[in-house]
Amino acid sequence: MTTIYVDNNATTAIAPEVLEVMQPYLTSDYFNPSSMYAAARSPAQAIQKARNTVARCLGVVGPEQILFTGSATESNNAALFGSVQANPDRRHVITTSVEHPSVLEIGKELARRGFDVTFLPVDKNGELNVDDLIRALDKNTLIVSIMMANNETGVCYPVDEFARVIKETDPAIIVHTDATQAVGKIPVNLSTDLKHVDLLSFSGHKIHAPKGVGALFVRQGTRWRPFILGGHQEKGRRAGTENVPYIVGLAKACELAVAGVADEQTRIRGLRDRLEKTLVELIPGLEVNGSGALSRLPNTLNIAIHGVEGEAILYELSRHGICASSGSACTSGTLDPSHVLKAMQVPFTAIHGSLRISLSRYNDARDIDKIIEVLPEIITDLRKLSPYWDNEQNCFKL
Ligand code: PMP
Repeated sequence: MTTIYVDNNATTAIAPEVLEVMQPYLTSDYFNPSSMYAAARSPAQAIQKARNTVARCLGVVGPEQILFTGSATESNNAALFGSVQANPDRRHVITTSVEHPSVLEIGKELARRGFDVTFLPVDKNGELNVDDLIRALDKNTLIVSIMMANNETGVCYPVDEFARVIKETDPAIIVHTDATQAVGKIPVNLSTDLKHVDLLSFSGHKIHAPKGVGALFVRQGTRWRPFILGGHQEKGRRAGTENVPYIVGLAKACELAVAGVADEQTRIRGLRDRLEKTLVELIPGLEVNGSGALSRLPNTLNIAIHGVEGEAILYELSRHGICASSGSACTSGTLDPSHVLKAMQVPFTAIHGSLRISLSRYNDARDIDKIIEVLPEIITDLRKLSPYWDNEQNCFKL
Protein backbone atom coordinates (compact mmCIF):
# COMPACT_ATOMS: atom_id res chain seq x y z
CA MET A 1 0.00 0.00 0.00
CA THR A 2 1.38 3.39 -0.91
CA THR A 3 1.45 6.09 1.73
CA ILE A 4 -0.40 9.29 1.04
CA TYR A 5 1.13 11.90 3.30
CA VAL A 6 -1.14 14.89 3.89
CA ASP A 7 0.09 16.04 7.31
CA ASN A 8 2.63 18.59 6.11
CA ASN A 9 1.77 21.21 8.74
CA ALA A 10 3.05 18.68 11.29
CA THR A 11 6.28 17.92 9.47
CA THR A 12 7.53 17.37 5.92
CA ALA A 13 9.67 14.88 4.04
CA ILE A 14 13.29 15.94 3.61
CA ALA A 15 13.80 17.12 0.03
CA PRO A 16 16.46 15.12 -1.88
CA GLU A 17 18.18 18.38 -2.84
CA VAL A 18 18.41 19.26 0.86
CA LEU A 19 19.85 15.88 1.83
CA GLU A 20 22.43 16.15 -0.93
CA VAL A 21 23.87 19.47 0.23
CA MET A 22 23.92 18.29 3.87
CA GLN A 23 25.84 15.10 3.10
CA PRO A 24 29.44 16.44 3.12
CA TYR A 25 28.94 18.08 6.53
CA LEU A 26 27.72 14.78 7.98
CA THR A 27 30.74 12.91 6.65
CA SER A 28 34.00 14.42 5.40
CA ASP A 29 33.55 18.05 6.60
CA TYR A 30 32.63 17.27 10.19
CA PHE A 31 35.05 19.76 11.79
CA ASN A 32 34.00 22.18 14.47
CA PRO A 33 33.52 25.46 12.62
CA SER A 34 35.21 27.33 15.50
CA SER A 35 38.47 25.35 15.23
CA MET A 36 41.62 27.08 14.01
CA TYR A 37 42.96 24.60 11.44
CA ALA A 38 42.38 25.07 7.73
CA ALA A 39 40.00 22.09 7.48
CA ALA A 40 37.49 23.89 9.72
CA ARG A 41 37.18 26.67 7.23
CA SER A 42 34.77 24.72 5.04
CA PRO A 43 32.03 24.28 7.71
CA ALA A 44 32.57 27.88 8.91
CA GLN A 45 32.12 29.18 5.38
CA ALA A 46 29.10 26.92 4.86
CA ILE A 47 27.36 28.55 7.85
CA GLN A 48 28.09 32.01 6.49
CA LYS A 49 26.80 31.05 3.06
CA ALA A 50 23.66 29.56 4.63
CA ARG A 51 23.09 32.77 6.59
CA ASN A 52 23.36 34.82 3.38
CA THR A 53 20.90 32.51 1.64
CA VAL A 54 18.30 32.59 4.44
CA ALA A 55 18.62 36.38 4.62
CA ARG A 56 18.10 36.70 0.88
CA CYS A 57 15.08 34.38 0.97
CA LEU A 58 13.40 36.52 3.66
CA GLY A 59 14.31 39.86 2.10
CA VAL A 60 16.75 40.64 4.91
CA VAL A 61 19.51 43.14 4.18
CA GLY A 62 22.29 42.30 6.63
CA PRO A 63 22.58 38.53 7.13
CA GLU A 64 24.00 38.91 10.66
CA GLN A 65 20.39 39.54 11.71
CA ILE A 66 19.66 35.81 11.12
CA LEU A 67 20.47 33.44 14.02
CA PHE A 68 20.32 29.68 13.64
CA THR A 69 18.51 27.81 16.41
CA GLY A 70 17.40 24.26 17.18
CA SER A 71 13.70 24.72 16.30
CA ALA A 72 10.89 27.24 15.97
CA THR A 73 10.02 26.44 19.58
CA GLU A 74 13.48 27.62 20.61
CA SER A 75 13.22 30.68 18.35
CA ASN A 76 9.89 31.62 19.96
CA ASN A 77 11.33 31.14 23.46
CA ALA A 78 14.39 33.22 22.54
CA ALA A 79 12.22 35.94 20.98
CA LEU A 80 9.88 36.32 23.93
CA PHE A 81 12.15 35.67 26.91
CA GLY A 82 15.01 37.58 25.24
CA SER A 83 12.75 40.62 24.85
CA VAL A 84 11.41 40.39 28.37
CA GLN A 85 14.94 40.21 29.80
CA ALA A 86 16.10 43.22 27.82
CA ASN A 87 13.16 45.46 28.80
CA PRO A 88 12.63 45.19 32.57
CA ASP A 89 10.81 48.55 32.61
CA ARG A 90 7.76 47.10 30.78
CA ARG A 91 5.46 44.31 31.98
CA HIS A 92 2.64 43.92 29.43
CA VAL A 93 2.77 41.19 26.77
CA ILE A 94 0.18 40.83 23.99
CA THR A 95 -0.35 37.68 21.96
CA THR A 96 -3.33 35.78 20.53
CA SER A 97 -5.51 32.96 21.79
CA VAL A 98 -4.66 30.83 18.73
CA GLU A 99 -0.85 30.75 18.84
CA HIS A 100 1.13 27.54 18.70
CA PRO A 101 1.83 26.26 22.25
CA SER A 102 5.45 27.43 21.91
CA VAL A 103 4.13 31.01 22.19
CA LEU A 104 0.87 30.42 24.08
CA GLU A 105 2.55 28.58 26.95
CA ILE A 106 5.17 31.31 27.30
CA GLY A 107 2.33 33.80 27.62
CA LYS A 108 0.81 31.68 30.40
CA GLU A 109 4.20 31.33 32.09
CA LEU A 110 4.79 35.09 31.99
CA ALA A 111 1.33 35.61 33.52
CA ARG A 112 2.32 33.22 36.34
CA ARG A 113 5.46 35.33 36.84
CA GLY A 114 3.32 38.42 37.35
CA PHE A 115 3.32 39.91 33.84
CA ASP A 116 0.13 41.39 32.47
CA VAL A 117 -0.63 39.17 29.44
CA THR A 118 -3.39 39.85 26.89
CA PHE A 119 -4.55 36.98 24.67
CA LEU A 120 -6.40 38.60 21.76
CA PRO A 121 -9.62 36.76 20.86
CA VAL A 122 -10.60 35.55 17.37
CA ASP A 123 -14.05 35.48 15.77
CA LYS A 124 -15.80 32.39 14.40
CA ASN A 125 -13.72 32.61 11.22
CA GLY A 126 -10.56 32.53 13.30
CA GLU A 127 -9.76 36.15 12.52
CA LEU A 128 -8.31 38.85 14.77
CA ASN A 129 -9.76 42.34 15.01
CA VAL A 130 -7.30 45.22 14.85
CA ASP A 131 -9.52 47.25 17.22
CA ASP A 132 -8.95 44.65 19.95
CA LEU A 133 -5.22 45.16 19.45
CA ILE A 134 -5.53 48.95 19.57
CA ARG A 135 -7.56 48.73 22.78
CA ALA A 136 -5.00 46.41 24.36
CA LEU A 137 -1.89 48.53 23.61
CA ASP A 138 -0.72 50.66 26.53
CA LYS A 139 2.37 52.45 27.85
CA ASN A 140 3.50 49.28 29.58
CA THR A 141 3.35 47.08 26.43
CA LEU A 142 6.69 45.40 25.84
CA ILE A 143 6.09 42.98 23.00
CA VAL A 144 3.29 41.85 20.69
CA SER A 145 3.54 38.33 19.24
CA ILE A 146 1.15 37.40 16.42
CA MET A 147 1.61 34.36 14.20
CA MET A 148 1.61 34.80 10.39
CA ALA A 149 -0.50 31.72 9.74
CA ASN A 150 -2.23 29.27 11.99
CA ASN A 151 -0.93 25.70 11.93
CA GLU A 152 -4.36 24.12 12.56
CA THR A 153 -6.72 26.14 10.37
CA GLY A 154 -4.32 27.86 7.96
CA VAL A 155 -5.94 31.24 8.72
CA CYS A 156 -3.43 34.00 7.87
CA TYR A 157 -3.07 37.13 9.97
CA PRO A 158 -2.29 40.61 8.62
CA VAL A 159 0.92 40.91 10.63
CA ASP A 160 2.14 43.75 8.37
CA GLU A 161 -0.93 45.87 9.15
CA PHE A 162 -0.87 45.04 12.87
CA ALA A 163 2.87 45.80 13.08
CA ARG A 164 2.32 49.20 11.43
CA VAL A 165 -0.41 50.06 13.94
CA ILE A 166 1.81 48.98 16.84
CA LYS A 167 4.80 51.05 15.68
CA GLU A 168 2.60 54.09 15.01
CA THR A 169 1.32 53.81 18.58
CA ASP A 170 4.75 53.30 20.15
CA PRO A 171 7.91 52.47 18.18
CA ALA A 172 9.50 50.99 21.33
CA ILE A 173 7.07 48.05 21.38
CA ILE A 174 8.75 44.95 19.98
CA VAL A 175 6.85 43.07 17.27
CA HIS A 176 7.39 39.31 16.97
CA THR A 177 5.83 36.93 14.48
CA ASP A 178 5.90 33.15 14.37
CA ALA A 179 6.21 32.54 10.62
CA THR A 180 6.68 28.77 10.91
CA GLN A 181 3.67 27.93 8.75
CA ALA A 182 4.10 30.91 6.43
CA VAL A 183 7.57 30.44 4.95
CA GLY A 184 7.25 28.73 1.57
CA LYS A 185 3.46 29.00 1.52
CA ILE A 186 2.96 32.76 1.34
CA PRO A 187 5.44 35.59 0.66
CA VAL A 188 7.55 36.57 3.68
CA ASN A 189 9.62 39.71 3.15
CA LEU A 190 11.18 41.58 6.04
CA SER A 191 12.17 44.59 3.92
CA THR A 192 8.78 45.29 2.37
CA ASP A 193 5.52 43.98 3.94
CA LEU A 194 7.10 42.99 7.22
CA LYS A 195 9.42 45.97 7.61
CA HIS A 196 7.92 46.80 11.04
CA VAL A 197 8.54 43.30 12.39
CA ASP A 198 11.51 43.09 14.80
CA LEU A 199 11.66 39.35 15.48
CA LEU A 200 10.58 36.43 13.24
CA SER A 201 10.78 32.70 13.95
CA PHE A 202 10.56 29.68 11.70
CA SER A 203 11.54 26.04 11.48
CA GLY A 204 13.29 23.74 9.01
CA HIS A 205 11.06 20.71 9.21
CA LYS A 206 7.97 22.44 7.82
CA ILE A 207 9.84 23.25 4.61
CA HIS A 208 11.49 19.91 3.78
CA ALA A 209 14.62 20.32 5.92
CA PRO A 210 15.27 18.01 8.90
CA LYS A 211 13.65 18.38 12.31
CA GLY A 212 15.79 20.13 14.91
CA VAL A 213 16.85 23.29 13.12
CA GLY A 214 15.25 26.70 12.99
CA ALA A 215 16.06 30.37 12.71
CA LEU A 216 15.32 33.63 14.42
CA PHE A 217 15.52 37.01 12.71
CA VAL A 218 16.50 39.79 15.12
CA ARG A 219 16.29 43.21 13.51
CA GLN A 220 19.33 45.36 14.17
CA GLY A 221 18.65 47.78 17.03
CA THR A 222 15.99 45.61 18.71
CA ARG A 223 16.17 45.66 22.51
CA TRP A 224 16.72 41.95 22.89
CA ARG A 225 19.13 39.78 24.90
CA PRO A 226 20.44 36.32 24.08
CA PHE A 227 18.41 33.50 25.59
CA ILE A 228 20.87 30.61 25.38
CA LEU A 229 24.20 31.47 26.98
CA GLY A 230 27.51 29.64 27.21
CA GLY A 231 29.44 30.16 24.00
CA HIS A 232 30.63 32.67 21.44
CA GLN A 233 28.74 31.08 18.54
CA GLU A 234 26.37 33.26 16.51
CA LYS A 235 28.31 36.24 17.93
CA GLY A 236 27.30 35.19 21.45
CA ARG A 237 23.60 35.43 20.62
CA ARG A 238 22.93 31.68 20.54
CA ALA A 239 25.51 29.54 22.29
CA GLY A 240 26.25 25.95 21.31
CA THR A 241 28.32 24.33 18.59
CA GLU A 242 26.54 24.94 15.31
CA ASN A 243 24.67 22.07 13.66
CA VAL A 244 26.40 22.65 10.34
CA PRO A 245 24.67 20.01 8.16
CA TYR A 246 21.23 21.06 9.38
CA ILE A 247 21.98 24.75 8.93
CA VAL A 248 23.13 24.05 5.37
CA GLY A 249 19.97 21.97 4.82
CA LEU A 250 17.77 24.74 6.21
CA ALA A 251 19.24 27.26 3.77
CA LYS A 252 18.69 24.95 0.78
CA ALA A 253 15.15 24.24 1.95
CA CYS A 254 14.51 27.99 2.24
CA GLU A 255 15.68 28.54 -1.32
CA LEU A 256 13.37 25.79 -2.60
CA ALA A 257 10.47 26.98 -0.41
CA VAL A 258 10.64 30.56 -1.59
CA ALA A 259 10.93 29.44 -5.21
CA GLY A 260 7.88 27.22 -4.60
CA VAL A 261 5.50 29.93 -3.33
CA ALA A 262 4.02 30.39 -6.82
CA ASP A 263 3.32 26.62 -7.06
CA GLU A 264 1.64 26.78 -3.62
CA GLN A 265 -0.55 29.65 -4.75
CA THR A 266 -1.69 27.92 -7.94
CA ARG A 267 -1.27 24.13 -8.14
CA ILE A 268 -1.45 23.27 -4.43
CA ARG A 269 -4.27 25.76 -3.83
CA GLY A 270 -6.09 24.14 -6.77
CA LEU A 271 -5.70 20.67 -5.24
CA ARG A 272 -6.89 21.91 -1.84
CA ASP A 273 -9.85 23.77 -3.33
CA ARG A 274 -10.98 20.74 -5.33
CA LEU A 275 -10.73 18.53 -2.26
CA GLU A 276 -12.63 21.06 -0.15
CA LYS A 277 -15.41 21.59 -2.70
CA THR A 278 -15.91 17.86 -3.33
CA LEU A 279 -15.96 16.89 0.34
CA VAL A 280 -18.49 19.64 1.10
CA GLU A 281 -20.68 18.22 -1.70
CA LEU A 282 -20.31 14.57 -0.71
CA ILE A 283 -20.44 14.69 3.09
CA PRO A 284 -23.52 16.15 4.79
CA GLY A 285 -22.90 17.99 8.07
CA LEU A 286 -19.37 19.05 7.09
CA GLU A 287 -18.05 22.53 7.79
CA VAL A 288 -14.76 24.06 6.78
CA ASN A 289 -13.12 25.67 9.81
CA GLY A 290 -11.86 29.14 8.92
CA SER A 291 -13.62 29.16 5.54
CA GLY A 292 -14.95 32.68 6.16
CA ALA A 293 -11.46 34.10 6.79
CA LEU A 294 -10.10 36.65 4.32
CA SER A 295 -6.95 34.67 3.76
CA ARG A 296 -6.00 31.04 4.35
CA LEU A 297 -2.83 29.08 3.60
CA PRO A 298 -3.16 27.45 0.15
CA ASN A 299 -2.21 24.00 1.46
CA THR A 300 -4.42 23.61 4.53
CA LEU A 301 -7.93 22.20 4.91
CA ASN A 302 -9.46 21.91 8.37
CA ILE A 303 -12.91 20.35 8.41
CA ALA A 304 -15.43 19.72 11.16
CA ILE A 305 -17.49 16.59 10.60
CA HIS A 306 -20.45 16.46 12.94
CA GLY A 307 -21.25 13.24 14.73
CA VAL A 308 -17.92 11.39 14.40
CA GLU A 309 -14.67 11.28 16.36
CA GLY A 310 -11.60 12.76 14.66
CA GLU A 311 -9.45 9.92 16.02
CA ALA A 312 -11.74 7.30 14.49
CA ILE A 313 -11.47 9.02 11.09
CA LEU A 314 -7.67 9.12 11.38
CA TYR A 315 -7.55 5.44 12.23
CA GLU A 316 -9.69 4.52 9.22
CA LEU A 317 -7.73 6.82 6.90
CA SER A 318 -4.53 5.27 8.16
CA ARG A 319 -5.85 1.81 7.17
CA HIS A 320 -5.96 3.19 3.62
CA GLY A 321 -2.39 4.52 3.94
CA ILE A 322 -3.53 8.13 4.36
CA CYS A 323 -1.65 10.16 7.02
CA ALA A 324 -3.62 13.19 8.20
CA SER A 325 -4.17 14.88 11.51
CA SER A 326 -7.10 15.49 13.80
CA GLY A 327 -8.10 19.05 14.55
CA SER A 328 -8.13 18.28 18.23
CA ALA A 329 -5.09 18.03 20.44
CA CYS A 330 -5.79 14.38 21.22
CA THR A 331 -2.90 13.27 19.04
CA SER A 332 -0.51 15.12 21.33
CA GLY A 333 -1.44 12.95 24.28
CA THR A 334 -4.19 15.05 25.81
CA LEU A 335 -7.93 14.77 25.47
CA ASP A 336 -8.40 18.54 25.58
CA PRO A 337 -10.02 19.79 22.40
CA SER A 338 -8.07 22.16 20.17
CA HIS A 339 -7.58 25.60 21.80
CA VAL A 340 -7.74 27.12 18.29
CA LEU A 341 -11.15 25.66 17.41
CA LYS A 342 -12.38 26.43 20.92
CA ALA A 343 -11.30 30.07 20.49
CA MET A 344 -13.30 30.09 17.21
CA GLN A 345 -16.32 28.76 19.14
CA VAL A 346 -16.62 25.70 16.94
CA PRO A 347 -19.30 23.54 18.66
CA PHE A 348 -17.96 20.80 20.94
CA THR A 349 -19.30 17.94 18.80
CA ALA A 350 -17.67 19.39 15.69
CA ILE A 351 -14.31 20.02 17.39
CA HIS A 352 -14.17 16.33 18.21
CA GLY A 353 -14.88 15.44 14.58
CA SER A 354 -12.24 17.74 13.15
CA LEU A 355 -9.70 16.70 10.59
CA ARG A 356 -6.72 18.60 9.18
CA ILE A 357 -5.36 17.82 5.74
CA SER A 358 -2.21 19.73 4.82
CA LEU A 359 -0.51 19.36 1.44
CA SER A 360 3.02 19.90 0.15
CA ARG A 361 4.75 20.05 -3.22
CA TYR A 362 4.99 16.27 -3.18
CA ASN A 363 1.20 15.81 -3.34
CA ASP A 364 -0.63 15.42 -6.62
CA ALA A 365 -4.12 14.94 -8.07
CA ARG A 366 -4.06 11.17 -7.39
CA ASP A 367 -3.68 11.82 -3.65
CA ILE A 368 -6.74 14.05 -3.73
CA ASP A 369 -8.70 11.46 -5.76
CA LYS A 370 -7.88 8.78 -3.18
CA ILE A 371 -9.06 10.92 -0.25
CA ILE A 372 -12.26 11.75 -2.14
CA GLU A 373 -12.75 8.04 -2.81
CA VAL A 374 -12.36 6.84 0.78
CA LEU A 375 -13.32 9.64 3.18
CA PRO A 376 -17.08 9.93 2.47
CA GLU A 377 -17.45 6.16 2.87
CA ILE A 378 -15.53 6.21 6.16
CA ILE A 379 -17.82 8.94 7.48
CA THR A 380 -20.98 7.07 6.44
CA ASP A 381 -19.75 3.92 8.22
CA LEU A 382 -18.71 5.75 11.40
CA ARG A 383 -21.99 7.61 11.55
CA LYS A 384 -23.87 4.32 11.60
CA LEU A 385 -22.34 3.84 15.07
CA SER A 386 -22.76 7.42 16.22
CA PRO A 387 -25.37 8.31 18.85
CA TYR A 388 -25.27 11.89 17.54
CA TRP A 389 -26.15 11.17 13.91
CA ASP A 390 -29.65 10.52 12.53
CA ASN A 391 -28.95 7.97 9.80
CA GLU A 392 -32.55 8.05 8.54
CA GLN A 393 -32.63 11.83 8.00
CA ASN A 394 -28.89 11.98 7.29
CA CYS A 395 -28.40 14.90 9.66
CA PHE A 396 -27.14 15.76 13.12
CA LYS A 397 -29.53 14.81 15.97
CA LEU A 398 -30.52 17.93 17.87
N1 PMP B 1 4.97 27.45 15.50
C1 PMP B 1 4.09 26.91 14.65
C2 PMP B 1 3.03 27.78 14.04
C3 PMP B 1 4.16 25.55 14.34
O1 PMP B 1 3.27 25.01 13.49
C4 PMP B 1 5.15 24.75 14.94
C5 PMP B 1 5.25 23.27 14.66
N2 PMP B 1 4.05 22.59 14.74
C6 PMP B 1 6.06 25.37 15.82
C7 PMP B 1 5.94 26.72 16.07
C8 PMP B 1 7.15 24.59 16.50
O2 PMP B 1 8.12 24.21 15.57
P1 PMP B 1 9.30 23.21 15.97
O3 PMP B 1 8.73 21.84 15.83
O4 PMP B 1 10.40 23.49 15.01
O5 PMP B 1 9.69 23.52 17.37
